[in-house]
Amino acid sequence: MAPGGRDKHFDVEDDDEFAKGAPGKKRRFTEFECPTCSAHNPFEEFGNEDEVMCNWCGLQFKAVIDDEGKLKLKEL
Ligand SMILES: [Zn+2]
Repeated sequence: MAPGGRDKHFDVEDDDEFAKGAPGKKRRFTEFECPTCSAHNPFEEFGNEDEVMCNWCGLQFKAVIDDEGKLKLKEL
């Protein structure tokens, strides 16, 4: 028996499992929060790559939805 010969093995767990049934990129939204003025905007249904406009500050954004169905808004 070799002293210090530890046989403990850890599997490296990555937190990147995809939730099954998650809507992902196909998720649709009917509202968004303006990243510039934080206003809450009800909107017609929109999805990935659609353009939305804030009713408060008038800025336009492109909706980008990632694989997890999270909405990000890119200023145009
Ligand atoms: Zn705004």
